Amino acid sequence: MTDLYELLEVERDASADEIKKSYRRIARDCHPDANPDNPEAESRFKEISAAYEVLSDPAKRERYDRFGSTNGFDMSDPFGSGAGGLGDLFDSFFGMNNPFGGGGRQRGPSGPPRGEDLDTQAVLEFTDAVFGCQCDVDVRTAVRCDDCESTGARSGSAPETCPQCQGSGHVRTVAQTVLGQIVRSGTCSACGGQGQIIADPCPTCSGAGRLIEERTYTVDVPAGVDDGSTLKLAGRGAVGGRGGPAGDLYVRLRVKPHKVFERRKDDLVRELRIELTQAVLGTTIELETLDGTEELKIPRGTEHGKVFRLKGKGVPHLDGRGRGDLLTVIGIDIPSKLEFEEEDLLRRLAEVRGDKVTPVDEGFFSRVKTAFKN
Ligand SMILES: [Zn+2]
Ligand SMILES: [Zn+2]
Repeated sequence: MTDLYELLEVERDASADEIKKSYRRIARDCHPDANPDNPEAESRFKEISAAYEVLSDPAKRERYDRFGSTNGFDMSDPFGSGAGGLGDLFDSFFGMNNPFGGGGRQRGPSGPPRGEDLDTQAVLEFTDAVFGCQCDVDVRTAVRCDDCESTGARSGSAPETCPQCQGSGHVRTVAQTVLGQIVRSGTCSACGGQGQIIADPCPTCSGAGRLIEERTYTVDVPAGVDDGSTLKLAGRGAVGGRGGPAGDLYVRLRVKPHKVFERRKDDLVRELRIELTQAVLGTTIELETLDGTEELKIPRGTEHGKVFRLKGKGVPHLDGRGRGDLLTVIGIDIPSKLEFEEEDLLRRLAEVRGDKVTPVDEGFFSRVKTAFKN
């Protein structure tokens, strides 16, 4: 571990002025302008510049003194972040062992990339969505290449360390600016940051380490999903190249409508048509529910639009705790065509009740005559 004071050839208790003088002296000696085509001098110049940047700043020097070569800079390191900041400068000569490199800065090769998230759609029957089911979905996805065991290298060969970045996945560029040297760290273009290159690619996957295939997955659909729900299947997406982890699979659910039932959140709603006489006199109906038939008592004098609630006969809650209700909305069928006897009875009823109704018209008599003829 290079000591910054040693680099600048000063004692640990050197004054700011002494450090400055010493830095200037060494910098003159090894400045790139004075040493063209001398990489040794250039790298020494970079080192002392970085050292001077620390030791000339009282706060940074104090921190360096306190933490030395141990990793004393954390996420909140005020000068370890930002392009061209101290972090990058340290990178340039401490390399991977940068003692100040804590925090969120990426160290080392990025490794094989994670696979893509995929999405697909499944169409469910209404009752399957209510009670849950298993369904198959077809996905065009990326799967492991078994021929190269996902390495991307031809069987018998292996990926090689990237010569451009020596396997670090990063390259550094040094720029001279009015502020001094700025060292930037970027992703290596030769290996895409992975630190390895494939010299002899696997012929099956052309070096990708994965293959595109159609796959059918069986999905467990929990009870209570609705149209528009999305299921996330972690790790069932495309596998990453060269052994990278798989992405996730999102299954968007479409639910077919039911001819009787409608969803209102976790309640089911259905209409029930009853006869005028049933509404007036009351009745008991064998009601179709999703759980089979239930007896529904319609009391005397039930009005049109009345709602009967059957507790717990609705859609199961997605959290598995309980179910919604079944709401039955009553519709009363008013007969528009009456047999002679029906009309006669109704008119007598109106008369008894004293209800004012439209009198019998000629059309009625003609219908009556017709009825008698038959
Ligand atoms: Zn392969
Ligand atoms: Zn590289």
